[in-house]
Parts: sequence; C-alpha cells; structure tokens
Amino acid sequence: RTSSAITGLERTFADRLPPLSVPWRGADAPEPTLLVVNEELAAALGLDVAALRSADGMAILSGAAAPADATPVATAYAGHQFGGYAPLLGDGRALLLGELIDTGGHRVDLQLKGSGPTPFSRGGDGFAVVAPMLREYLVSEAMHALGVPTTRSLAVVATGRGVHRTGIEPGAVLTRVAASHLRVGTFEFAARRPELLGPLTDYAIARHYPELVDLPEDGNRYLAFLEAVIDRQAALVAQWMLVGFVHGVMNTDNTTISGETIDYGPCAFIDAFDPSAVFSSIDHGGRYAFGNQPAVLKWNLARFAETLLTLMAAEPDKAIDAATAVLASFDDRYNRYLIEGMRAKIGLIGTVGESDLIDDLLTLMSDQRADWTGTFRALANELRGDHAPLATLIPSEHIDPWLHRWRVALDGLGRDPDETAAAMDRINPLYIPRNHHLDEALRSATHGDISAFEQLLAAVTHPFEHRGEWDTFAAPAPESFTNTFQTF
Ligand code: AMP
Ligand code: MG
Ligand code: MG
Repeated sequence: RTSSAITGLERTFADRLPPLSVPWRGADAPEPTLLVVNEELAAALGLDVAALRSADGMAILSGAAAPADATPVATAYAGHQFGGYAPLLGDGRALLLGELIDTGGHRVDLQLKGSGPTPFSRGGDGFAVVAPMLREYLVSEAMHALGVPTTRSLAVVATGRGVHRTGIEPGAVLTRVAASHLRVGTFEFAARRPELLGPLTDYAIARHYPELVDLPEDGNRYLAFLEAVIDRQAALVAQWMLVGFVHGVMNTDNTTISGETIDYGPCAFIDAFDPSAVFSSIDHGGRYAFGNQPAVLKWNLARFAETLLTLMAAEPDKAIDAATAVLASFDDRYNRYLIEGMRAKIGLIGTVGESDLIDDLLTLMSDQRADWTGTFRALANELRGDHAPLATLIPSEHIDPWLHRWRVALDGLGRDPDETAAAMDRINPLYIPRNHHLDEALRSATHGDISAFEQLLAAVTHPFEHRGEWDTFAAPAPESFTNTFQTF
C-alpha cells in the first residue's frame, strides 16, 4: 500500500551506504487515530498538515502505507548496551522513510518508531505503545523548547492494535525527525567492515560537519571529525546537566554523530538536585545516573574513537596517540560548556573566577534537596526583592551567606538587578515535564483522555513564559515522588 500524503522523500543514506539498510514495510494498522501532530514542525518541513491529518496521511504515520515515491528501510547498527558489546542491533521496530530538506535547507530523516517487526527485531515484537510514544513526543519537544539539540516529534498515531506488555496496551507509532540516525553504534557496525567504514565516515562528515570535507584524508580529516563529534557531544551533555535531564539509556547506539539527543525511553528530569539520581527500572548499577552522564559519554566516545583508528593513520601507534589526545580534551570541553551555562543560570555572564560560587550553590542545593528547576527561578525572584520562593526551597540561614557573595559578584557586573533577573528567566525554565505530571497525563491518554497531555505539552513547549493556568506545572513534586520515581 502506498500514499501520496508525503512526497519528495530522498534516500541518500540508503543509496550511498547499501550495506547499512534493508528495504522494509510497516505492519498494518487496524484502526489508526491521530493522537497528536506537530503543526509547527510540519510547516518547517514543508509538509501539508491537512494531508497528514487525512486517512492517507495517517496511513503513512501509522506505518501501514509507504510514501508513494519512497523506499522505507530498516537500518543496521551495533552498540554497547550497559557496557556489553552487541554486534548487531539495528531498527528492531523502526523504519527510515527517507530524508526531507526543511525550509532552512537542512536535510533531516523521517523515521517511524513502533511500525512493526523488521529483520532486526530479535526477540522483540516490533511494536510500541501509546504511553512511551507520547512520552518521547512530549519530552523531545520540551527539550527542543529548552534549546537542547534533539530529535523532534512530528506525530503519534494510535494504531488500534493491542500490544502485549504487562497486559494488553494500545499500540502506537511515533514519527521522529532527526538530523540523521547515524550513531556511534553505526560506526561500531562499520568498523568490522573495512569497505564500509570510509564511505560511512565521509557521508557523516558531509552531512554533519561539511566544514571538514575539504581537509585531506592524510591530513587529519578523520581526527578533526572525531574532535568535532566530541565537542558537540560535550556541549550536549552539559546542556542535559544544566536542565536536569537524565537520559536513562546512554548506550552507544543512543549516542548520535549529529550531537542531538536521541531515544527517549526511561528518561526523566530530576526534581531535587541529586547527582546519584537514577529513574530507569533497568539501570540497577546506576551506570546512567544523572551525575555519571559526562563520564559515560566519554566512555561512549572512546568506543567511537576506536572505530576510526584505521582511518586516522597507517601506523596504529600514531592513530592511538592522536585519538587519545583528542579524547583527553573531553573533560575541558565539557567543563567549559558546563561552567559557562551555570554562570548564565545565575546571571553571571562574562565574569571569571566565580566557579566557587557555583560549586557552593550546588552543595547547598544538594544538602537541602532543593528543587533544581525551581531554585534558579527563585534566585531571579530574589533579585526582584521577592524572598519567599527561595526561602521555601533553601532555608535563609543556609543560603544567606551565599546570597551575599552572589550579590557582590553581580554588583561587579554593574547591571540593573531587574535586567539580570529577566536574563535569567529567559534561560531558566519554569515548566519542565515533571515525572508526576507526565505519568498522570500518560495514564489518562492510555485510557483515551488526551486533555492532560495536551495541557502539559502546551506548558513545556513554552517553558520560559509564565501563565497562571500552568502554575501547577511549576510546583516541585510532592516529597514522596522526589527522585524515587521509576521509568520503564
Ligand atoms: P534502545 O535501548 O531503545 O535503544 O533499543 C535497543 C534495541 O532494541 C534496538 O535495536 C531496538 O530496535 C530494539 N527494540 C526495542 N524495543 C523493541 C521491540 N518492541 N521490538 C523489537 N525491537 C526492539
Ligand atoms: Mg535506541
Ligand atoms: Mg529506545
């Protein structure tokens, strides 16, 4: 079955790197219902929203029909999962429909998730269910609104298929938009296929780091590529830490080459600041705990560097030395992005020598189990002379000495405090997808009532903009919920 609701899909990935994909089709959808569609994103992709909403559109978005002129594929990749190597993973429940050029001129992938079994499904059923797909939709769009590089979500369609989980759950398909689906795991797959590795790497460079294309092969093109990916990923994980995001499954197949966040599974935002926070029900060892994310990313990037060694220099020792030196730069890059971001969060843009102030605030927040998101908004209110919000998070006797030092540092900037507060409010969100709200909204949506989901989505996609009707989404979680919540 085909449909012309989406046309003009290109397929550079499938055409140029044939060993990485298998042409495939989605499963039928007995009774497709559109749960949510991203009109703004559709417009930015040059897609016709009315066509997407039509029966023909839903046929594509549910996986039941292929776009008329496209060749959907399931893609192959490998990956380290919780530290163990899996030589063949691949799209076990996803289909790459093809690529679009958006209105900004950027090439993006259009991918279905939950569209049925593929040759890579192994033991899985190939399907997805409503709650996790709406969860990815909402959290990815929230991350985008927060300014964090991420895949986007175009739509979620309930398929009408019952899917076996703990009980029978309603099946659903998410349409994901990504700069690409190239991941560290794609390179791990290619590293054992020498004829594939060079073409894959040149494809990735052309698509994501075009400024490196003209570097000579023997003159560091591949080392520069490694360095560029490390830099983007260091910037990305710093942004996660700044908004309090815990990815939950930082396997190497979930680490992109583009530097976008990908694969929203058991992810969560922290409530109270706690570096040891883990939400995923399967992360027993805390490998992917909040505070461990930079270290584990560096580990993933080391696996990435290993895949490129044969391209970097003819002599292995030389390649290893060069790659090791670039990897060693990860810590400095990450710390630079993090400190710059933390300074901005407390209104200290451009000042130097204030890292004690940041460390001391983090210690106070962690000792008092202060709400991460709420504290930075409360600090801005403090500058406006409103002391109550901060006092409810950190008792005055604990925070007052720090506030004094902070005000001295701010005075040194010579900026009007109201202006500083406004600048802080432009980067510190009021609304994030708090676990207790998201959980409740997904529960209702699974039972057919999408309204709570829509309200939360509206708030978290306008995270900096105060509206009275959204006040409940800004309040810290009840103590019973704080960082003990589990995601699956
Ligand atoms: P993830 O941990 O979400 O990155 O997924 C790891 C691997 O498991 C990928 O190869 C997925 O395609 C595959 N996978 C996850 N869920 C399913 C499913 N329900 N059916 C088939 N494959 C799946
Ligand atoms: Mg994945
Ligand atoms: Mg996943």
